[in-house]
Amino acid sequence: MLEGVKAIAKGMGTTFKALTEPRDTIAYPEKRREYAPRFRGKHMLARDEDGHELCVGCGLCEAVCPAQAIRVVAAEAPTDKPVSWTNRYSVDYEVDLIRCIFCGMCEEACPTNAVRLTPFNELAAFNRLDMIADKEELLSPPVRR
Ligand code: SF4
Ligand code: SF4
Repeated sequence: MLEGVKAIAKGMGTTFKALTEPRDTIAYPEKRREYAPRFRGKHMLARDEDGHELCVGCGLCEAVCPAQAIRVVAAEAPTDKPVSWTNRYSVDYEVDLIRCIFCGMCEEACPTNAVRLTPFNELAAFNRLDMIADKEELLSPPVRR
């Protein structure tokens, strides 16, 4: 009986001690951790200061990607409504965020600095197709909700 009481008291002591110790966890999403400046998260496709798309559809990012996560479809840029700063652009561009290993090689290979990896890391979806970021999504830099 006495041994049992002692064991309970010891257990309660351990519990109360733990309650006063600093926590390793944070109250996400109200609080968020700071990441290193070199952290690589979700991609974006950049535009120039005039709003023209920087991607020229050269396909280098697609070729260099070790995970085969990028799909680029290049085309002649429309002349009636300029979307690109040159006469070529990517009519379609996709990144499969499940395949991607966030190595940053696409960003390194891009000759126009069009594809960039942002610090955005909140990547979750209820189905696999929603993890494929299309061009429209990539042209709108991801923001934290
Ligand atoms: S970060 Fe790496 S794995 Fe991801 S799309 Fe770019 S090259 Fe491919
Ligand atoms: S993002 Fe850069 S490397 Fe990829 S197709 Fe466009 S211009 Fe080429």
